[in-house]
Amino acid sequence: MATAIITGASQGIGACIAKRLAKDGYDIVINYYPSEDGKAKAQDVAKECEAFGVKTFCYGADVSKFADCEEMVKAVKAEFGTIDVLVNNAGITKDGLLARMSEENYDAVIAVNQKSVFNMMKTVCSVMMKQRSGRVINVSSVAGLYGNAGQFNYSASKAAIIGMTKTAAKEFGSRSITCNAVAPGFIQTPMTDALTDDQKNAILNQIAMKRYGQVDEIAGVVSFLASPDASYVTGQVIEISGGLSM
Ligand code: NAP
Repeated sequence: MATAIITGASQGIGACIAKRLAKDGYDIVINYYPSEDGKAKAQDVAKECEAFGVKTFCYGADVSKFADCEEMVKAVKAEFGTIDVLVNNAGITKDGLLARMSEENYDAVIAVNQKSVFNMMKTVCSVMMKQRSGRVINVSSVAGLYGNAGQFNYSASKAAIIGMTKTAAKEFGSRSITCNAVAPGFIQTPMTDALTDDQKNAILNQIAMKRYGQVDEIAGVVSFLASPDASYVTGQVIEISGGLSM
C-alpha cells in the first residue's frame, strides 16, 4: 500500500486532500499543528479516511520547525515503510499592507508557509530518493503568481514555493520523483471565511466563473498529480482559480 503525508490536514483544503487520497487508496498521514483542538479535528478526518479501507496516522508537528518534521518523517517511515506522496499544504495568513506589516508577521508567515516546504522536502525526499519514486505536490497560491495587495508576506512565501517546486523537479527528476505545485484562487475554507464581505465581493468580480472554488476542486487536481496519469508532469504550477487571472 502506498503512503501519502498531507501537512495541515486537520481542516480546509488539507482535510479534503487527505480524504480524496484515501479514496484513491493511499494510507494517510494527517499532520496537524500540535493542539488538543487540532488533534480532535485530525482524528475526525482520520475516521472519514478509514471509511475507504485505508490506514491512517495522525501526527502533531509544527512544520515550521525542522526537528518536528524530522521526527514526523522518522515516525511515518517506522509506521508505513514507504512515503510515496507528500502534499505541502499547511499555511497561514497574517495580512496587512507592507507599510504597516510587522517583522514578526512577516517572519511567521515565511516560517510556516515557506520554510516548512524546505523542512518537509529535505526529510521526505531523501526517503523518496532511496525508493527512486515519489510525488511532491506543493500548495502555492495565485498570490504567489500575481501578487496581492495586503499579502506581501504571504505572496513572498507562495512565490518561493514555485521556485522550490521547479528546482526540486530538476534535482529529483532522474530519480522518478515528480514535483508540482497547485495555485488555488479563492477557495471557501476557514482561511477565507475570515475575509470581510467587501473583500469577498471584490474578489468575486474578478473571477471568470463568478463563484468561489470548493475544496474538492483542489483535491481533484492533487489526486491527478499523484496518479499514474501524471507520471510525465513535473515542475509545473496548475492554477485552480475559476479564471481569476484572465
Ligand atoms: P486553513 O483552513 O486555515 O487550514 C490550514 C491548515 O494548516 C490548518 O489545519 C492549520 O492548523 C494548519 N497549520 C497552520 N500552521 C501549521 C503549522 N505550523 N504546522 C502544521 N500545520 C499547520 O487554510 P486552507 O484555506 O485550507 O489553506 C490550505 C493551503 O491552501 C494553505 O497553504 C493556503 O495558503 C493555501 N491556499 C488557500 C486558498 C484559499 O482560498 N483557501 C487559496 C490559495 C492557497 P490549525 O488550524 O490547527 O492551526
